[in-house]
Amino acid sequence: MRSISYHLHRWKDEIGNFIFPPKCGVCSESLIESTVEICESCLQRVEYIHAPLCKVCGKKFAGEICTDHICEQCLRHSPPFSMARSIAFYEEPVRTLLHRLKYSYDTTVVAPLGEIARSFDFSPFAECDFILPVPLHIIRLKRRGMNQALVLARLFFAEYRAKINTRILVRSRSTISQTQLDVPGRKRNVKAAFAVQHNDIVDNKIICLVDDIFTTGITVRECAATLLRAGASEVRVVTMARVRLFN
Ligand SMILES: [Zn+2]
Ligand SMILES: [Zn+2]
Repeated sequence: MRSISYHLHRWKDEIGNFIFPPKCGVCSESLIESTVEICESCLQRVEYIHAPLCKVCGKKFAGEICTDHICEQCLRHSPPFSMARSIAFYEEPVRTLLHRLKYSYDTTVVAPLGEIARSFDFSPFAECDFILPVPLHIIRLKRRGMNQALVLARLFFAEYRAKINTRILVRSRSTISQTQLDVPGRKRNVKAAFAVQHNDIVDNKIICLVDDIFTTGITVRECAATLLRAGASEVRVVTMARVRLFN
C-alpha cells in the first residue's frame, strides 16, 4: 500500500501541473499529460544519425551504400580512437539545447537532451573501464562553472556513475575556442593541450570519451592520442551531436 506522503506528493504534483503546466524545454509549448520534457513536434525535428556509418569515425554514408564499412579517410589514416558515434546532427533543436547548456549554464535542457538520447545504444561505451568527459582548462571551468561534457556524461551514463572520472584526463594548457579556427589552426590549438594524470590507472584500460559536439574530431583525436600514449588499450568516443558540414 502507498504511504500517505506518497499520495500527498502526487496530489501536490498534480495541483502544481495544473497551475504551472509543464512546458517543452525547446519551444516552451505547454505539455499536456506528457511524461517527457520536450514536445512531440520538437522531438520530430531531431535529425538522428542512423546507419550506414563508417565503423570507425561514425561518418554517415549517403546514397547507395547500405552497410557499415570503413571510410576512405579512416583507411588512409587510422584515427587514435576505435569508434566515434554521435546521437544526432548538430541541427535544431539539438543545437539550441547544447548552446543553452554550454553558454547559459541552463540545466533545464538536460531532460529534453535525455529524451533525445533515450533510444541511442550506449552499450559499447558503458562497457568501457572509465568514462571521461573531455576536460576544460581549470580557468575556463571556473569561469563557466561547469563542464558541459561532464553534464552529458552523467546524463548518458547515470547507471555507471562510478566509472565517470574527471581527474584522469586534464587540459594542461589553456586553449582558445575552436569555433573560429580553420582545420590547421584547430590542430595547432589543441596540440599537447591534454595530459593524463595517472598513467597507471589507464594502463591497458578501455576508455570512453564524452563530448558535446564532434566537429572535425580534432579535439577528441588529441585526447585519444594522449590516452593511448599513457597506456590505454582503446578509446571510444560518444558525443551528443555532430556537425554535418565536416561529416
Ligand atoms: Zn517543443
Ligand atoms: Zn571513417
